[in-house]
Amino acid sequence: MAEKRRFQAIKGTRDLLPPETELWNRVEATSREVFGTFGFGEIRPPIFEPTELFARAVGGETDIVSKEMYSFEDRDDTSVSLRPEATASVCRAYIEHNMHAWTQPVKLYYIGPMFRRERPQKGRYRQFYQIGAEVLETLQQGQGGPKDIAKDAAVDAEVVEMVMTFFARLGLEGVQLEINSIGHNAAECRRGYVEKLRAALTEVKDQLGEDSRRRIETNPLRVLDSKLEHEQPIIEKLPRISDHLCDDCRKNFAEVKRQLDLRGVVYKENWRLVRGLDYYMRTTFEITARGLGSQNAVCGGGRYDGLVELLGGQATKGIGFAIGEDRLILSLLEARKEVASDEWRVASGRIGCDVYIAWMGSDCQVAAIKAAQELRAAGLRVELPPVELKFGKALGQADKVGARFALILGEDEVASGQWTVKTLADGTQEKVSAAEMVDWVRRKTGAKV
Ligand code: AMP
Repeated sequence: MAEKRRFQAIKGTRDLLPPETELWNRVEATSREVFGTFGFGEIRPPIFEPTELFARAVGGETDIVSKEMYSFEDRDDTSVSLRPEATASVCRAYIEHNMHAWTQPVKLYYIGPMFRRERPQKGRYRQFYQIGAEVLETLQQGQGGPKDIAKDAAVDAEVVEMVMTFFARLGLEGVQLEINSIGHNAAECRRGYVEKLRAALTEVKDQLGEDSRRRIETNPLRVLDSKLEHEQPIIEKLPRISDHLCDDCRKNFAEVKRQLDLRGVVYKENWRLVRGLDYYMRTTFEITARGLGSQNAVCGGGRYDGLVELLGGQATKGIGFAIGEDRLILSLLEARKEVASDEWRVASGRIGCDVYIAWMGSDCQVAAIKAAQELRAAGLRVELPPVELKFGKALGQADKVGARFALILGEDEVASGQWTVKTLADGTQEKVSAAEMVDWVRRKTGAKV
């Protein structure tokens, strides 16, 4: 006989279960609703792509690509990877489907799992979910230049406004938005700044930790991300990008802030907020929420004007964000902790069961099935026991599943067409005719007609 083995979900992955999945569904439905009002349509890219796509888009030297991707050789010897993020896929799809010929800009959102082999902890998983959106616009001839600075700023601000609207609609608590501009990749702007930063870091090299020391060469901007306590006072004294932006980037950042103000979006500037990749430019932002401990970022985003071109498409502007759905849900659950579980179910938009059908006598099963079909067709939640139960057992079961009403169907009820309905909260009973049953329950539950 084969050895008995209990399987467990792979480390860093987990099962999402009811009733929590009700909340996941509500969050996703709300994102679709809110993003729809901003003119975004849904894209569902595949979950695996050529490894080369991510190496090119995310960058071969980043931790994500060099250490964290789930990659494997397919049977035709090509290397494929589970997606660690979706922006690369969206840009690949933009090029593949000639979206530059669609009405511009193209506004897309996605919802789905991402895979990174990180060290698991609260709020950090190897399979996690992101809700993200991208705005892409291919440059037409003669475009670019000073006029675009204001236009890009308004696009950026609207994207940020959309995320904040979504979070507000969900009632997410303790939301804080931080913004920065990282300029653009030119000698008179970010590249010049990075050289100054590198020089300043080299001077204090001996006081830095191992990671930061390594990054002086590979990616000095990432040193600003450091959370090491003893590095904080050193970082505070480093040159700041805001003092080294070129004229256009400076104007653009001022305009982004003005556009956020116009929209009533509250933000804080954080000069240390950076993205480690070359194609990111100008606007970057991050949003944190309450109840998440050290992994408190629920959303990261920024502008990436060069990316579509880098992947073989035409010169195209891009701005987008990714929300960590797992963390978003954790934060929402944290806030609801004190609420009793039943209230929580109601708060999350559902109640366990509307009607429990206690049928007795094999002749009554037909009537019970028909009643269940009618009530479910009206959108009500119905439990129909698969076998006949004794009266007391049936009512006990109705209680356990949290039913509001028990519909009692015995031979007398079926013969007379007058059904007995018991309200479980107070134990009262009424007779309701079979024909009026659906309307009666709807009225009582406040379900929409
Ligand atoms: P990124 O794609 O790295 O910019 O991340 C965007 C957002 O995704 C972060 O702010 C997190 O909320 C979420 N996120 C990133 N990595 C993980 C992970 N391993 N587990 C859970 N959420 C994650």
